[in-house]
Amino acid sequence: MPAIELKNVSKRFENITAVDGVSFRIKDREYVTLLGPSGCGKTTLLRMIAGLLKPSEGDILIDGKSVVGMPPEDRNIGYLFQNYALFPHMNVAENVGYGSLVRGEAKAHTKKVTEEMLRFVNLLEWAGFMPRELSGGMQQRAALVRALATGCRTLFLDEPMSSLDPKIGVKLRYEIQKAAKKMGLTVVHVTHDQSDAMSISDRIIVMKAGKVVQAGTPKEIYNHPSRPYVAHFIGESNFMKAGPSGSNVLSIDGHTVIVKENVSGMKGVVAAIRPEKILFEKRLENTFEGVVESVDFLGPVARFNVRLNDVCLSVSTAKRPDIKKGMKVNLYLPPENLMVFCDIANLEEELKVM
Ligand code: ADP
Ligand code: MG
Repeated sequence: MPAIELKNVSKRFENITAVDGVSFRIKDREYVTLLGPSGCGKTTLLRMIAGLLKPSEGDILIDGKSVVGMPPEDRNIGYLFQNYALFPHMNVAENVGYGSLVRGEAKAHTKKVTEEMLRFVNLLEWAGFMPRELSGGMQQRAALVRALATGCRTLFLDEPMSSLDPKIGVKLRYEIQKAAKKMGLTVVHVTHDQSDAMSISDRIIVMKAGKVVQAGTPKEIYNHPSRPYVAHFIGESNFMKAGPSGSNVLSIDGHTVIVKENVSGMKGVVAAIRPEKILFEKRLENTFEGVVESVDFLGPVARFNVRLNDVCLSVSTAKRPDIKKGMKVNLYLPPENLMVFCDIANLEEELKVM
């Protein structure tokens, strides 16, 4: 039985459809991120699962039972928001123990749980400090264990790293993931940050304009994006409008290119390739001649923009320091790394990130 199941859930605010016919299942103890650009409906979706908003349509099941209409406090969930949700007038220990005291647990039990939780995130020595005396990262760790101290089995996170310094955010995301795995929690984590999603998720659910466009493991999403939008939003891709010219052959920028798929009869074809998959090589097939328009040194790799005829391709590699601006080069596009999409009537519209 899935821990959480959504069946055709929609939410409308007056004339805005924030969430549009969303269905998915999340397994017990699974760490799932909802990934999409700002405004695509992630927070609205999370608030509906948590019981803070009522769906306009559809059903939400937790442990197999419909929870539509059930108040949030009966759903056995923890919620961590973007902004530190600590009470400013209580010290760290009081914050963490608050939920337990409110539920009427004995003081000794609350004290024990609070200590365990603070030790868990290395904040025990900060127990008596006020939230404002802690750094942003420490406040979020305290807010995390305050949510966990309620004994919840499901944790909802809404952009918990977004107001932190990026390096602190990266550290916190691994701490959250480790805590969730250790405690056997089911997690739904909302983010617009693809690197957060790629690094800590068991599975990613990608959203666009209120709809789910793909769900899969980070590797599946990166290596087999369902549409150009996903290939564009997660990682980077070069896109090329193409026409079929044989069963496994496309015509791109005046060249014939071999692909894995049978493309005969396809319309609105777009081929895509990741910058790191293009090689500076001349082969018998799939090779384009071009001129290097720019070279950007990015540290681990260099980024080359290479002009063909109408198309400009971005190539990244650490292995070719000899290639300079203005040079004529050959680019090899391996068939196994070319992604082919069809029925893309308007590529610009498809790639739009709101
Ligand atoms: P995200 O979390 O992905 O940034 P949200 O779920 O916050 O997106 O918002 C999705 C859409 O719904 C946006 O267009 C937003 O303006 C709209 N929206 C969210 N909450 C409300 C509300 N209470 N009233 C009206 N519109 C809302
Ligand atoms: Mg949001």
